[in-house]
Amino acid sequence: MTDDCLFCRIVAHESPADIEYEDDQVVAFKDIYPKAPVHVLIVPKRHIASIMEVEPGDAGVLGRCLLVARALGEAKGFAKRGYRVDVRCGPEGGQVVYHVHFHFTAGRPAHT
Ligand code: 5GP
Ligand code: ZN
Repeated sequence: MTDDCLFCRIVAHESPADIEYEDDQVVAFKDIYPKAPVHVLIVPKRHIASIMEVEPGDAGVLGRCLLVARALGEAKGFAKRGYRVDVRCGPEGGQVVYHVHFHFTAGRPAHT
């Protein structure tokens, strides 16, 4: 838990969020400003600031995030249509919140 991190506060249930999935290592919640009909953020519970700081010990939890993406895709009916999972990394990657998160977006054709 990092006190000044928005997503750590959501993980700790100290800030409100529309939580779609939670287990011992991962939380997924709706993006507050959705960019697609379905827009969910999948985050490791443990604070990792950015992919640019990721370490070998983080591989397991990051893989778990991708399994949650697959499960969300299936649960929401996009297993065949497909969806997008992306991660913004650092200033030029457009990262705004420095707690690693996977954007799960679905429900419209692929965008660039
Ligand atoms: P980034 O650019 O860092 O990859 O994306 C951060 C995402 O977090 C944005 O899509 C933004 O809409 C979302 N976001 C920012 N503040 C909040 C918040 O307080 N709650 C939720 N649920 N999403 C947020
Ligand atoms: Zn955090």
